[in-house]
Amino acid sequence: MITQELLEDALKYGKCFVRNGNTASYIPELQRVNKYQLGICAVGMDGEVMEAGDSRVPFTIQSISKIISLILAIRDRGADYLFHDKVGVEPTGDPFNSIIKLETKTRPFNPFINAGAIAVASCINGDSSDEKFERFLSLTRKLCNNETIELNENVYRSEKETGDRNRALAYYLKASGVLEGDVEECLDFYFKMCSVNVTALDVANLSGLLANHGCCPATKEALIESQSAKAIRALMLTCGMYDGSGEFAMTVGFPAKSGVGGGIAVSLAGRMGIGVFGPALDEKGNSVGGIKMLEFLSDRLNCQLF
Ligand code: GLU
Repeated sequence: MITQELLEDALKYGKCFVRNGNTASYIPELQRVNKYQLGICAVGMDGEVMEAGDSRVPFTIQSISKIISLILAIRDRGADYLFHDKVGVEPTGDPFNSIIKLETKTRPFNPFINAGAIAVASCINGDSSDEKFERFLSLTRKLCNNETIELNENVYRSEKETGDRNRALAYYLKASGVLEGDVEECLDFYFKMCSVNVTALDVANLSGLLANHGCCPATKEALIESQSAKAIRALMLTCGMYDGSGEFAMTVGFPAKSGVGGGIAVSLAGRMGIGVFGPALDEKGNSVGGIKMLEFLSDRLNCQLF
């Protein structure tokens, strides 16, 4: 059973490691964030919430948004089409922004690396990036159970100005027939979806919904299909921590999705959702303090999958 005391202890333990990490330097606006922040929040299947540390501090969702854009694209285009024509479901072992496999394999390996997420983003219905983003934002608010979630304009601008690597991926995908529609509109939407401000509480709500088979623990409303929740938890386990997914499965053993803003979403089916925030990252782009807190919890809770 998770308790407030256990969360506080996990936080204390995680804090010992934060100095070993650094904020993401390739997006200037993210580099400026105070790297010593750390917070955690757990949401149970009856909607009960426990928090410790900086669990209400806003940070940008970054790659955790790839869960939400995937849900939207599955709704718009169907899982069969998406996973057959646009993106695979296999881990790559390469960094999140790698371009290397695009030439040898047409479809990106999975929807959680940048190439895969950009391909998925192009499949979301909407005539413009604004229309796609409106739909994305409204779903994010629902899934996180927070109507006040907004775009962080500064991070969005910073990403857009410096996102040449993502531009390269997108144009390559367009040339090979995977990316649909206008490349710049798709990229604009992608930069926006990564730049939405959330808190560890919001991420815990999203994770709790995935753990609860698509049903919001607080309101009991069925918001996504249980099949989608299951597919996403599986992808989180195999591809959610970039090229650190294998090691994370061995040391922590939870389905999780990280983002370079320092967030980690953890979804334990039928048990709880966890949201973590710790912007000091390791060399793979995962939150150093966040991983240590989760290691601590997985040891004490005895609820790892393996
Ligand atoms: N906006 C980031 C990028 O595309 C997201 C990466 C991440 O969180 O993994 O580079």
